[in-house]
Amino acid sequence: MIAIVKQSAQPEQLSHFISWIEGRGYRTNVSHGDNETIVGIIGDTTKIDPFLLESMDIIDRVRRVSEPYKLANRKFHPEDTVVDCGHGVLIGGGNFQVMAGPCSVEGDNLIEIARAVRAAGATMLRGGAYKPRTSPYAYQGMGEHGLDLLLAASAELDMPVVSEVMDPRDVQLFVDRGVDVMQVGARNAQNFNLLKEVGKTTTPVLLKRGLAGTIDELLMAAEYVMSEGNPNVILCERGIRTFETRTRNTFDINAIPVLHHLTHLPVVGDPSHATGYTRYVRSAAFAATAAGADGLEIEVHNRPQEAWSDGAQALTPDSFLDTMRRIALIRQAVTAELG
Ligand code: PEP
Ligand code: MN
Repeated sequence: MIAIVKQSAQPEQLSHFISWIEGRGYRTNVSHGDNETIVGIIGDTTKIDPFLLESMDIIDRVRRVSEPYKLANRKFHPEDTVVDCGHGVLIGGGNFQVMAGPCSVEGDNLIEIARAVRAAGATMLRGGAYKPRTSPYAYQGMGEHGLDLLLAASAELDMPVVSEVMDPRDVQLFVDRGVDVMQVGARNAQNFNLLKEVGKTTTPVLLKRGLAGTIDELLMAAEYVMSEGNPNVILCERGIRTFETRTRNTFDINAIPVLHHLTHLPVVGDPSHATGYTRYVRSAAFAATAAGADGLEIEVHNRPQEAWSDGAQALTPDSFLDTMRRIALIRQAVTAELG
């Protein structure tokens, strides 16, 4: 971290600042330029609040030169992390996986949808048993019975399941029941107690970007999980809130290569929540694949018009199959070795 000192600072103010910093266990390196004086602060500066320094009279501005996330940072872990999702399914480091299924588990149609997505090439089954809904009057999910249905489908089809955990008190239930991947949803992207709780397990975590979360905030959320001891984090770009109203969210395709640059963790794209409308989901899925995503999460329903949540963005099994076939072609183009 560097602190740029105001030209008006008096030498005694500067030495007082330096002793204050050093008194907190950091080393300093002062460089006097023609126009400004820069104090380099050396040590683990993650605990320093840059705004506190900037509030001091003699400080003009403060810049971090290293990121506050360490465990998620590619600088300290250059090779891609591969997360083992169970049932022999690996994601990251060249392993591409598609997780598909309904927004929420609704009952016996789950197995029908699961068989269809499996047949189309999905390698993981998604479905919400606990639903974070904007309205308390909207369908809240089947709860534990929903997990039963997911796990029965997982056993029949030998594929891992991804399901959202909303409450830190449910994390142990998910682990005991053997849910393969716990999803932390966009609305909980900064629910630090939940992040810490899933971090105490070794179950893979699919961590979605917050509704208005920056890329750095997503990385800090991953850091929360990892700092508790769970290295199995998969990041998910699912669109962010912008001024645009034609789609449910704005798909930040940039985030996919940016995240790959900044972190070694696998990155998945969710074209369903990113667009909100079935008619746009395929294009967004293609774009995420072309941008180098390690996987996709796509909502599929056998009768979208009757879905209990997010029917407006669900693909039918037929359209999902077509999408999967084209995604395979895009993957070939993106990963081909050109002579
Ligand atoms: C979901 O996956 O159904 C969901 C609620 O996603 P998000 O948290 O991204 O809105
Ligand atoms: Mn949904």
